[in-house]
Amino acid sequence: MKKRKDGPKILVFDIETAPIIAHVWSIWEQNVGLNQIDSDWHVLSWAAKWFGNREVMYMDQSTAKNIEDDAKLLKGIWKLLDEADIVITQNGRSFDQKKLNARFILNGFQPPSHYKHIDTKQIASKHFAFTSNRLEYMTDKLCTKYRKLKHKKFPGHELWKECLAGNKLAWAEMKRYNKVDVLALEELYTKLIPWENTINFNLYSDSLETICRCGSTEFQKRGFLYNSAGKYQCYRCKDCGAETRGKVNLLSKEKRQSLRPDTTKRG
Ligand SMILES: [Zn+2]
Repeated sequence: MKKRKDGPKILVFDIETAPIIAHVWSIWEQNVGLNQIDSDWHVLSWAAKWFGNREVMYMDQSTAKNIEDDAKLLKGIWKLLDEADIVITQNGRSFDQKKLNARFILNGFQPPSHYKHIDTKQIASKHFAFTSNRLEYMTDKLCTKYRKLKHKKFPGHELWKECLAGNKLAWAEMKRYNKVDVLALEELYTKLIPWENTINFNLYSDSLETICRCGSTEFQKRGFLYNSAGKYQCYRCKDCGAETRGKVNLLSKEKRQSLRPDTTKRG
């Protein structure tokens, strides 16, 4: 993957939240009333990296005096979102983004400036019929460097329970787990790049050279694209295989005119 000199600022991120703790009378089909809630959910940790950079940034509530007060953590991720042109998440359109927005408004933050959102779970359901669209399954099948971890030392919900209880080993595991999630997500996205073409990355660069979403500038001519008005040269990225369409309509003026019924002729 080539590193871009300019272009959009792309943030890959993932958050972990604390569960809602409530009084329940049964474990089956519960309707939990608001007055049964002991403590509400909040952000426990986040990990993020700028796409293509090595550093993984991370913040958590392990040293917070009051674990429910996540304002400092929110400020950290808010700044990054505010800076980002595009964000990449797994299921972040329905989870991470909305969860953060809820915490932002509850803590008096303004909305971060506009960013576009690429959600790998949505790419998966749009283009593929995988057995599962979960990060664990997709990174296991598609990634070679990073796969989602299973936090074996604290299986399942144990990890969250132990972090809330202040267990340092659990927090260390949470940090590793959250950071690897972001690394695995970034790798997964690089596999999906040629399938995802909803954002024109070239708009974010002053360069007049066409740059592929993967950062490559090497293309080869490959076939033509036809629509109702024309014929266009197709180009394929030599690195990732993404296809782009040339801007010039290759049909001659005469040919284009022949496609329309001639209204100038008089009978
Ligand atoms: Zn490419």
